[in-house]
Amino acid sequence: MSSTVVVQPRGAERVKRGHPWIYRSDLAEVRANGGDVVEVRAARGRRIGDALYSDRSQIALRMLTVGAERGDVALVEQRIAEAIEFRRRLRIDGDAYRIVHAEGDRLPSLVVDRYGDVLVVQALSQGMDRLLGDVVAFLQERLEPKGIVARHDARVRALEGLPENVEVLRGEVPEAIVVHDRDLEYEVDVSHGQKTGGFLDQRENRWAAAGYAHGRMLDAFSYDGGFALRAARACDEAIALDVAADAVARIERNAARAGLENVSAQVANAFDFLREAERAGERFDTIVLDPPAFAKSRETVRKALSGYKEINLRALKLLRVGGTLVTCSCSYHVSEETLLGVVEAAAQDAHATVSLVEKRQQSRDHPILLGVAETAYLKCLILRKL
Ligand code: SAH
Repeated sequence: MSSTVVVQPRGAERVKRGHPWIYRSDLAEVRANGGDVVEVRAARGRRIGDALYSDRSQIALRMLTVGAERGDVALVEQRIAEAIEFRRRLRIDGDAYRIVHAEGDRLPSLVVDRYGDVLVVQALSQGMDRLLGDVVAFLQERLEPKGIVARHDARVRALEGLPENVEVLRGEVPEAIVVHDRDLEYEVDVSHGQKTGGFLDQRENRWAAAGYAHGRMLDAFSYDGGFALRAARACDEAIALDVAADAVARIERNAARAGLENVSAQVANAFDFLREAERAGERFDTIVLDPPAFAKSRETVRKALSGYKEINLRALKLLRVGGTLVTCSCSYHVSEETLLGVVEAAAQDAHATVSLVEKRQQSRDHPILLGVAETAYLKCLILRKL
C-alpha cells in the first residue's frame, strides 16, 4: 500500500484509547489522495494501522484496523458478514432493521438498513464511498435483495465533498414497501422518507412503551406512527402528530392497514399542540416525546435543553396521575444524565412526583462502540407520574 499518513502523538494517543477517528489538526504528513485506504504511522515511523482517508472532512482518518491487520476489501467483507450474522442471532421478529451500524460494527461511515426485500446503503465518507462498489456486490451476493438504493442525500456527504443524491444501485426499489415488526405491518418509503426511510433505532423502545400504554395517548413527534401504532391496541384513543405531512399521510394508511380505528393523525407543530392542549385543560394517560435532535452541535446544547425542558414540562402537566411519559433524545451532545436532569427540573416546575421506570437506548441492531460517545446517541426514559 503506497498511501501513507503520519499523525501527531495526540492522534496516535486517541487511537490507543480506542477511538477510531483522527482529526485533521492531528495529522503531520499526508502522502495520499482523498478516499484512499492509507497506512497510518506515528511520527517515528511505527505503523498504527490502516484507515480511510478524507481530504475534506475534519475527521481526516477513520481507522479500519489497528495493528498489523490490513484494511482491505476482504476485511470489509468479513466485517459485513459478521454484522449480518450478529443480526441473525438477535432473532429480530420482523424484517426492518439495521444490518451495518457504521463505527458500531467497525465499518466506519457505512450504514446498511434492511426494509423487507430492499437494502438501503449510505457511504458517508470519501473512503467508504470508494469501497461502495465492492460493498454492494457483496451484499447482493450474500443477501440477494430485490433492490439496493443509496440514500446519499445525507448532509454529511457534503462535508466530504461527495455528491448528494438518491440512486437505485441494484434491482428495483418500489415507492411503498410493506415491512413487518412482530405482528404489525407498515409501509415505508425508503427513497423519500426521513433517514433511510424510518427510525429503526426506536424499534425496541416502541414495544417497551406499548407495554405501559393505556387510556388516552399522545405521540407527539410521531413520524410514520411508530409509537402510536404499537400502543394503540392498549389504549382507548391515540393521537399521533408530526410536522411532516407525508409522514402523517403514512400514519393514516398504516393505521388503516392495521385496522386501528382509534388512531387519529394530524399535521401539527408539537410545541403549539402541547401549549394549546394545556390551555384547553386536556389530559392524557400516555405521552411519547421523540423529537428530532435539538442539539446538532455542542454550541446549540443550551438552546436544545430549553426545548427539551419545555416539552417535558408541558407533557408532565398534561399527564394524569398514574400516567406514563416516554421521553427520548437522539442528540449525542445531550447525555442520559443531562436529559434526566431536564426531566427532573420539569417535574419540579410541574409540581409532579415522578418515578423512573426504565432507562433505554437505541435498539440492539445499532450497537454502541465503547469509548466512542458518538455511537451512543439515543436515550429513552420511561417515567411514571405518581
Ligand atoms: N417517533 C418516531 C420518530 C420521530 S423522529 C418513530 O418512532 O419512528 C422526529 C420527528 O419529529 C420527525 O418525523 C419530524 O418530522 C418531527 N418533527 C420535527 N419538529 C417537529 C415539531 N415541532 N412538531 C412535531 N413534529 C416535529
